[in-house]
Amino acid sequence: MPSRRAVVYARISVAQEASVSIARQLEAAEQYAAARGWQVVGTFTDDGVSATHNKPEDRAGWRALLAAPQPYDAVIIWKVDRLARRVLDFLNADEALQGRKAGIVAVEDPVDMTTAQGRAFAQVLAVFGELEAATIRARVAAARTHLLKAGRVVGGTVPYGWRSVRNPEGAGLVLAHDPDRIDYVRGMVERVQRGHSVYAVVQWLDEVGAPTPSGRASWSYNTVERIVRHPLLAGMTPFNPGNTTKTRGTDVLRDADGLPVVDESVALLAVGEWRALVARLDDNDSAQSRPRALRSKTSALLSGLLWCGEHGDDGVRMHRCTVSRRPGYTCPACSQTISNFEPLVVEEFLRQKGERVRWTRVEEVHEGGAALLPEIEQRLDELDALIRQATDRDARRALQDQQANLLDLRDAKREEAPSVTLRADPAGFFNEAWEAAGEDVEARRAVLDDAFERVWVRRGGTGRRTPAQVLARLTFDWKMPEDLGPHTDDAYPLPGPGEAVLVTEGAD
Ligand SMILES: [Zn+2]
Repeated sequence: MPSRRAVVYARISVAQEASVSIARQLEAAEQYAAARGWQVVGTFTDDGVSATHNKPEDRAGWRALLAAPQPYDAVIIWKVDRLARRVLDFLNADEALQGRKAGIVAVEDPVDMTTAQGRAFAQVLAVFGELEAATIRARVAAARTHLLKAGRVVGGTVPYGWRSVRNPEGAGLVLAHDPDRIDYVRGMVERVQRGHSVYAVVQWLDEVGAPTPSGRASWSYNTVERIVRHPLLAGMTPFNPGNTTKTRGTDVLRDADGLPVVDESVALLAVGEWRALVARLDDNDSAQSRPRALRSKTSALLSGLLWCGEHGDDGVRMHRCTVSRRPGYTCPACSQTISNFEPLVVEEFLRQKGERVRWTRVEEVHEGGAALLPEIEQRLDELDALIRQATDRDARRALQDQQANLLDLRDAKREEAPSVTLRADPAGFFNEAWEAAGEDVEARRAVLDDAFERVWVRRGGTGRRTPAQVLARLTFDWKMPEDLGPHTDDAYPLPGPGEAVLVTEGAD
């Protein structure tokens, strides 16, 4: 009986934690051959390449084996997973060997591809190898997510107001407040919440000499806006897997349900508060939020406050314009205009509100479940797309499970109503505030913002009008119609700081 001729193939897999060395694989294969009286006519090796990322035919050692000039009947390998982790790759390798009338045998797996029965059994084993590879990929992804969830810094710039410190609970670095800077971030947030413009925040930072992120002498509008919009303010981590462009993505790290992962230990705000803050910045397209250089020098005092009263309860916001070479306002819907009236509005404001308490409203959005609905909807949309793209059946099922859970969660969250609380902080009296503002339009504007909800403008006759006629066109919506004052120590003691009045409004 002629002795079988065999070649040996060995490979190191970097994915394996305790990888069997090539020398040991070769030794085992030689013993295997010797025990059967086979003659080893060649050895071929590949190392340092993971089977997951590499087909056998892409490896130099395997290609040399296929092209070897000497005839052989069997290829001895250590285990099936040395050769391939995907069924298709394994079968392709087997097919290539069949062309040479050779088959694979494995030392550690009961595989003998030199017989039909052995080949069928090997196919089953290859399936398990593939499952194992899928598990390893999932573990690698989970490890990265875990690092992020644990607050570990995984690269990227640390936002202003935070710094990376040694993780007190383990290895690596975590984010923590930078004690030298976090109060400046708090100051920015409080001011935007109180309705100050980003430009006013820039001025404040320059005045108090807050260090800039870049080390430059003065603050810029964009820098402030970027800091205030950073999701880390709410303890969320920017996370944009697959984003290979230089454009900063806006998504954040999410849990298995697709909801944001929040690390409250580094947050300054609740997620809902931060969203309210971002919404305020988004809404603030009125002149007051723009840098002074972008505004004309006159008549900015009432922009954004004036509404045309000719279109029902909703109204139409009036834009600034020039009327007979005077600064004024016009309605984009009906084209009515008004000019030369601001001193009258100020006079009326001081007459009606001067001796009243100036309340500054701070919006607090309390997280009902509904606050999460936009996140849930967004994740559902993403899942729709991912399910359609999924080519792997198991991956698709996992995504569908996630979608089903999320739909249940959406039902539950819809039941919980959100609530917006307006906290009103007393800030002295309006006349004092107006005097303190002096000629600073920005500061005056902030005072008027605390007084007026809207100033409604109705149509009037053309031509020159008396102050009374102009005033007759205006209706004032005050922010605090039932406020305190005029102030006397006995009847209306001014609440101290922290003794805020709460006005609760439903979010609808
Ligand atoms: Zn109008």
